Amino acid sequence: MLRTFRIGGIHPPENKLSAGKKITALAVPTQVVIPLSQHIGAPAQAVVKKGDTVKVGTLLGKAGGFVSANIHSSVSGKVNKIDDALDASGYKRPAVYIDVEGDEWEEQIDRSETLNKVCNLSSKEIITKIAEAGIVGLGGATFPTQVKLTPPPGTNAEILIINAAECEPYLTADHSLMMEKGAEILTGITILMKAINVKKAVIGIESNKPDAISLFKHMIVHFEGIEIMPLKVQYPQGGEKQLIDAVIGTQVKSGALPISVGAVVQNTGTAFAVYEAVQKNKPLIERVVTVTGKNVANPSNFLVRIGTPISSLIAAAGGIPENTEKIIGGGPMMGKALVSTEIPVTKGSSGVLLISNKEAVRKPMRNCIRCSKCITVCPMGLNPTLLMNTSEFRNWDLAEKNYIVDCIECGSCSYTCPANRPLLDYIRLGKGKVMGIIRARKS
Ligand code: SF4
Ligand code: SF4
Repeated sequence: MLRTFRIGGIHPPENKLSAGKKITALAVPTQVVIPLSQHIGAPAQAVVKKGDTVKVGTLLGKAGGFVSANIHSSVSGKVNKIDDALDASGYKRPAVYIDVEGDEWEEQIDRSETLNKVCNLSSKEIITKIAEAGIVGLGGATFPTQVKLTPPPGTNAEILIINAAECEPYLTADHSLMMEKGAEILTGITILMKAINVKKAVIGIESNKPDAISLFKHMIVHFEGIEIMPLKVQYPQGGEKQLIDAVIGTQVKSGALPISVGAVVQNTGTAFAVYEAVQKNKPLIERVVTVTGKNVANPSNFLVRIGTPISSLIAAAGGIPENTEKIIGGGPMMGKALVSTEIPVTKGSSGVLLISNKEAVRKPMRNCIRCSKCITVCPMGLNPTLLMNTSEFRNWDLAEKNYIVDCIECGSCSYTCPANRPLLDYIRLGKGKVMGIIRARKS
């Protein structure tokens, strides 16, 4: 029997419309807008100014703290300005605007397709290269990778778990990358194993990707210490704590990090980016993004330079269908509605989903019928109906006592509620408020 996590979970329709589509490199736009904050943690500090000439790979922003990441140019050209730009949440953040001229790359970047399997660097040197290249978790969390590879004192990594679940409906960016860059991903995994000094890595892949499972099972014979674990299709298996439970059968306690059970989790796209950073000296300047939707003419997986406007991706997939009501950044479960299609692709952009007026309609909310379905499906063992009430009535103390900050915002509760209650909307609001209170208390 296939393994999965033990608490909660749902199985929404998969709708992987772009599965099997080859990755297509999108044309470089005439201008890119590269935000200085594309990661969890402090924004990067700009090291360029208006009028500067940059190449692909030139450092634009230096990490602004321990939990932060470098930002590089994804194009060659001239810095037009450093100014605010809208991010995916609709907030204005500082960004570097670059007018594109040609496509000139920094000399140290190896652009050949030759596989470079041998890495003679030490753990410290690998982590330094990853930090310099601005690698962050590409599964959507955008946590700076070098921080995850540096376990806090008193903890020890025993296993590397690779998240190849891609459990969000519609998204196929990781799947397409696995089909086309398997050897590079496996080399990246070997490098990550060396960085944290572990002898074992397990790649968790959901069983709805049989081609990737079969391909990787053939390829791992050339790589030591890597196992493939097919997993039952269950959302949200890509959640760190859910994946750890599925793969090693251990639950991470409330408030604890994966390293508390000896696990370090990285995404497949991150493993590929690590390969490129360490073996090819290539900073994180592009990524694969799925553009999809039931009415989209050509659902696709595009290789996109960071800073490209979302509108260019949509145009390449056939444009906005007439009846489109919402455009989501990410997948349908955890993604957020975009306020503009001029928002740039960032390191955390895994997908763009166009949904029609029929699909986007919110059914009228009714009274809770106390069916407890939301509790049954919550993968964190929370009580979503109680948490919604605590947020609605601003009882932050009760919300904190009932672990609102443990919510991973997976949306399973809202998805399953027969009374159409906007559970996650309220819980997200309450979680933000309680986290603010906790931060203030600590400081
Ligand atoms: S959104 Fe939060 S409360 Fe709702 S099911 Fe997911 S983890 Fe549980
Ligand atoms: S699923 Fe909806 S109706 Fe059922 S207990 Fe939860 S909030 Fe109430």
